Amino acid sequence: MHAEIIAIGTELTTGAKLDTNSQWLSLELQAQGIPVHYHVTVADDLDANLNVFRSAVERSDIVLISGGLGPTLDDLTRDVLARLTDTRLVLHEPSLAIIRGMFARRNREMPPRNVVQAMFPIGAEPIPNRRGTAPGIYMEIPRAGRSPCRLAAMPGVPSEMQVMFQDDVLPRITPAQAAGLVIRNARVNCFGLGESAAEQLLGDVTARGRDPEVGITVHEATITLRIVASAASVAAALEKIAQTKKTIYERMGEYAFGEEGDELEHVVVRMLQEQSQTLAIAESATGGLLAHRVTSVAGHELCFRGGLVAVDEAAANARLGQSGIAPSGTAHERACLLAEACRRHFGADWALSVGQRSRNTDTENASEAPVVLLSLAGPDGARAVELNVAGDPAIVKSRVAKSALNLLRLKLLKSQISESK
Ligand code: AMP
Ligand code: MG
Repeated sequence: MHAEIIAIGTELTTGAKLDTNSQWLSLELQAQGIPVHYHVTVADDLDANLNVFRSAVERSDIVLISGGLGPTLDDLTRDVLARLTDTRLVLHEPSLAIIRGMFARRNREMPPRNVVQAMFPIGAEPIPNRRGTAPGIYMEIPRAGRSPCRLAAMPGVPSEMQVMFQDDVLPRITPAQAAGLVIRNARVNCFGLGESAAEQLLGDVTARGRDPEVGITVHEATITLRIVASAASVAAALEKIAQTKKTIYERMGEYAFGEEGDELEHVVVRMLQEQSQTLAIAESATGGLLAHRVTSVAGHELCFRGGLVAVDEAAANARLGQSGIAPSGTAHERACLLAEACRRHFGADWALSVGQRSRNTDTENASEAPVVLLSLAGPDGARAVELNVAGDPAIVKSRVAKSALNLLRLKLLKSQISESK
């Protein structure tokens, strides 16, 4: 069983507005364990809509539509559904009464055009709209030799669509809920390896049809494992999740850094606080993003001593009172000196330095991919690592900032472990 999501609106296909409804619906369906095979965006055009609806009903078991339910002439969804099922629109009096009531409560007269919002194709079921005027439309469309296609058309306004989906659409489309099962989700977040390497480590954990199912997604180098468990009771679903989490932690080891909405900075600030340690930052390639991430975490004041954004290493050294520093030594050694100077300057236990983007000059082939040098200085000296920053420039800053945080996380993890021994 799989779903298709259709977003309707010329404002979407012209690029004037971004289709956020499809993303939201997809995440919701994923949380229910329902795979989504298609996203389609279509303009306010009758023929185009009819084409899109026809193929959706043919190829997908669940079709979720948003947009085109308004009272204006460019809102065509209900007409398209009537044509699709070879019927006509009929007035649903109870819906009309509700719409009239909404206008009355706002002390406004209902424009005649709004009557159309109470018209439904024969055989369709109105779905209440708890946030606005336009009711949704639910239909089960018969398909020869197969189960019917379950189709729900919802308003385009995101807040209306979301409430309608959760309250009235989800119960109609979720097989687990229909079968009286409960569904629970969990996420485990990992960093420091690629998606294929993660899949290799995880082995059969991400296999299709596994119970509970585990999906893998990547966002700006963070790998998220989503567990979706269904069971007869909440306790049984949570037990399934706990077992799967245990397997994930065993296989991912220290690549796994947190759960649910945890980002690396949350974990790092938490660890610094637990160990009563402080941090300072000197950054070039990340332009302040590293400090921004750390200072976005509640309670960072207790462990963040300050930071410096500079165009390059020399400027950073000058600002830290190290202008006399000899430009000798390897790039790694210079990066370590910078991190140590930053640590001293701010009087912190730890300092992270992020160099500027540069060609790798320490190797013979100077035309290699650009690199950034990260350095971590702490009570037991400094260490620099080279990060290859080839790839999508749009996410390079984020990846570099995360890599720096991860360097510190791994170090703090080691001191945590040796302390508890
Ligand atoms: P409609 O139901 O088509 O009249 O849309 C009502 C409002 O919701 C308009 O302001 C649209 O721009 C907005 N809207 C419609 N579809 C989407 C979508 N897929 N994502 C975000 N906003 C949308
Ligand atoms: Mg519209």
